[in-house]
Formats: sequence, structure tokens, C-alpha cells
Amino acid sequence: MMQEFSQLLSFLSERNCSLVAVSKTKSAADILRLYEQGQRDFGENYVQELLQKQQELPADIRWHFIGHLQTNKVKQIASFVHLIHGVDSEKLLTEINKQAKKFDRRIDCLLQMHIAREETKFGMDRDELSMIQPDKYENVRIRGLMGMASFSDDENLVRNEFRYLRMIFDDLTRVPAYSNMDTLSMGMSADFKIAIEEGSTMVRIGSLLFGKRDYSAN
Ligand SMILES: *Cc1c(COP(=O)(O)O)cnc(C)c1O
Repeated sequence: MMQEFSQLLSFLSERNCSLVAVSKTKSAADILRLYEQGQRDFGENYVQELLQKQQELPADIRWHFIGHLQTNKVKQIASFVHLIHGVDSEKLLTEINKQAKKFDRRIDCLLQMHIAREETKFGMDRDELSMIQPDKYENVRIRGLMGMASFSDDENLVRNEFRYLRMIFDDLTRVPAYSNMDTLSMGMSADFKIAIEEGSTMVRIGSLLFGKRDYSAN
């Protein structure tokens, strides 16, 4: 496991890609094991779970919120969250901006795009994206885009979805208000190699690092 982790890290760093270790459902001890090997970026999907872990784990962990964030929960994580990956509406951006202002900080966010064939995945389409006016949110910094490909063995399908997201990203960086974007969060355990080939700069990897998740254990 230790050797596999360092192999993964060198694979990623050779490709200028950073790692968010997705620790949802995993224990504080599991997280500490990676922390002790130098990992600082961890991703969580549920606000309650994130709050609990943030309290008991080292303060220099950078917590990424990668799940679907409800507007009424933003205030609970606004003081410390490092990067919010799943921003998919103006309403949510407005609330993040408001809460960030209260804590006198600027919160980094990624806009989540809907790229998968499945209906169930969250995210915006290009029309919704074009309605966002990044300058309106003084306490938010939009750092880039995030997307999840279809859960599928069809490599071409997955590759095309990532390629589509990359294309949106490249188009968007030509818009002055978005010219500082530097993060394209795409790729999970099953598809991160394809995502990197298609230009990912940040992968979110859970089960490959921690083993399968057991949702019944709670
Ligand atoms: C759970 C999750 C991941 C990690 O998934 P694995 O397949 O375990 O690597 C990545 N991104 C999001 C948004 C997730 O919810």
C-alpha cells in the first residue's frame, strides 16, 4: 500500500496532476495513514462527516468538498473549506460568496459541468454556465471546472466526456473574467488515467487508495 501510494504520487507528479484523496466513509485513522506519508488534500462528500473529521484531524489538512452542497449547509464549512468542487448554480455561488464575506475570506470554487450520459449526475450545461457572471462574486474565486464521466466500461465514451469538459475549460479560459482558471478536476479511481490523458490537473481518488467503501458500517 505504501509503495503503491508513492508510485501513484510519482505517476501524478510526472503529469503535473494533483491528488485529492477521497476519504468519505473512511475513518480518521485511515486518513492519518496517508497524512503521515505527506498527503494533505482530502475530499469529503457529506457536511456532517467533514465537520467531524476537520475537528479531530490535523489543522494543516486541506479539505475539499466534492459532493453536492446544499445552500443551507454552506455556512458550516465556509470558515475552513479549501476548495468546493461541485458548484452547480448561481444560487449556490451567491450563498458561498455571502458566507465567505462573513469570514473575511475568498473561497476557491470549481463549477461542476454535467458531462455524463446519466441523468442522475449533477452539474450545469453550457447555457447555464454562460449565465454565470464570475465578477459578481467578490469573495469567490472560480479556479476551474469539475466533472464526472459516465460510470461505464466504454473507454471511448468516458474519454469523449472528459475531452468535452477540457474543451469547455479551454474555451472558458479565453474569457477575461475566467483567465486565471488553473484547475480541471476530473478522474476517479476507475478512470483517472484517461482523465489525465485528456488534460486533468486534479484527480479525486478514493477506493484505489482506501479500498472499497462500506456504506453499511455506520
Ligand atoms: C466518491 C467520489 C470520488 C472517488 O471515487 P472512487 O471511485 O472511490 O475513486 C470522486 N469524486 C466524487 C465527486 C465522489 O463522490
